[in-house]
Amino acid sequence: MSFEHFGLEAEILRAINEQGYDSPTPIQAQAIPKVLEGRDLMAGAQTGTGKTAGFVLPMLQHLATQPRRGKGKAVRTLVLTPTRELAAQVGESVRDYGRHLRVKSAVIFGGVNIRPQMNRLREGLDVLVATPGRLLDHAGQGTVDLSQVEVFVLDEADRMLDMGFIHDIRRVIALLPPKDQRQNLLFSATFSPDIRKLANTLLTSPELVEVAGTNRSADTVAQRIHPVDKSRKRELLSHLVGAGNWQQVLVFSRTKHGANRLVKQLTADGLESAAIHGNKSQAARTKALKQFKDGKVRVLVATDIAARGIDIDRLPHVVNFDLPNVPEDYVHRIGRTGRAGREGEAISLVSADEIHLLRDIERLIGRTLPREELDGYEPDHSLPTGPTKSERKRGKPANKPGKGSGNKARNKARGNGRGQQQAQGKPNGKPGRRRRRGGARADGAANGGNMKSASTARGKTQNGKPTNAHSQRAKPARGRVNLADKLFGNE
Ligand code: AMP
Repeated sequence: MSFEHFGLEAEILRAINEQGYDSPTPIQAQAIPKVLEGRDLMAGAQTGTGKTAGFVLPMLQHLATQPRRGKGKAVRTLVLTPTRELAAQVGESVRDYGRHLRVKSAVIFGGVNIRPQMNRLREGLDVLVATPGRLLDHAGQGTVDLSQVEVFVLDEADRMLDMGFIHDIRRVIALLPPKDQRQNLLFSATFSPDIRKLANTLLTSPELVEVAGTNRSADTVAQRIHPVDKSRKRELLSHLVGAGNWQQVLVFSRTKHGANRLVKQLTADGLESAAIHGNKSQAARTKALKQFKDGKVRVLVATDIAARGIDIDRLPHVVNFDLPNVPEDYVHRIGRTGRAGREGEAISLVSADEIHLLRDIERLIGRTLPREELDGYEPDHSLPTGPTKSERKRGKPANKPGKGSGNKARNKARGNGRGQQQAQGKPNGKPGRRRRRGGARADGAANGGNMKSASTARGKTQNGKPTNAHSQRAKPARGRVNLADKLFGNE
């Protein structure tokens, strides 16, 4: 299929061509015709699938072919996003795809001077991309008129709810024309009953579109876990970057403080690094992102919220320095790489205290991630792959290891603990302290990078049998629903 099939204006096709897109991505192929028909849409598409063009292209077509409905300077189309970065990213897409059209667009978000935004709004906008807080500030001051909105897009709706924006969203919706007098598009990577509830109030007889298995991580991203002690994560990260000669890696930290500390340590290891998080000014965030994109900064350390919306062409590596508390964030994080069908790699450095977070993620994405212990960085406590005692009690798949089946016992049975290390000639299970220290070098000269496919990586026991039933497709997380089957009362 080609973009010509959609019957888009020549100016839009030209811009798409200039972007170098050959054919629509699956979400675009499904969503664009339906949006062009004027239907409301509920789209399950994770980040990196090309979903932005999925709504921006038909929106531009609408603007190019339909006369302005309302009089005056009212906003014609509105895209609401959870974060500033995503708003900026969507705004950029509007400019890119609409470059040969006369489309007035603006992006407004908090953390920057409100005056220039007021001036832009006064001009009368075709497309407004905004975060909820600043948009409501403008509404409160009477500097934005949303009463004539023709197309309303709620982007990354799941994230909006995670960030507690539900009341803001409702306040914004109250400023729009009645729902049957506007077209409504809702995009979400994951679905929960709350999203469904929101969709019910927002959409009129929506078309449902879902790609690449909502709640599943992009197939083009190779994912793996490196079990490692917490205290040695930074050392291992420096080693991976150096030994792998990675030139552009996005690292996720759970906390702002952790991100700052990590940048200091990586810089001391000789790796150019920068942090972006909510305590940084917008100017600092924009600068760090630009330096990262330009290749001046090799490691960008980000918190979940700040990284939202970051779109870097061909970003090859994402590292989870800490696992996120919310399993859906894992999907969002790794979606920064492997975008638009390109290959990417997502590595998680997981310490024993994060096993519960890892299990939540594996349950959400429906698979057990391969574990690979690295020589010289083996943790003092190996990560189990099977369900915990309490999970088994709750009826999760069990591997029936028999009596004395704690993690330790299971690991031993599987050859994944000290027993295995001893068998490999590491008498005390604490290999080469010297090698460990050497592993911190960022120049790639350090030994310790030889990957050892631990038995857990393959999910096999020493006799080649699968380790546990959990390695089969896991149950969806409680409270999650399959979109196609269960949305809008089909349960
Ligand atoms: P998104 O999921 O909207 O954030 O898009 C992810 C990336 O895919 C962006 O870098 C887009 O420029 C790129 N992209 C979008 N549509 C296409 C397409 N049809 N072909 C190739 N790349 C695309």
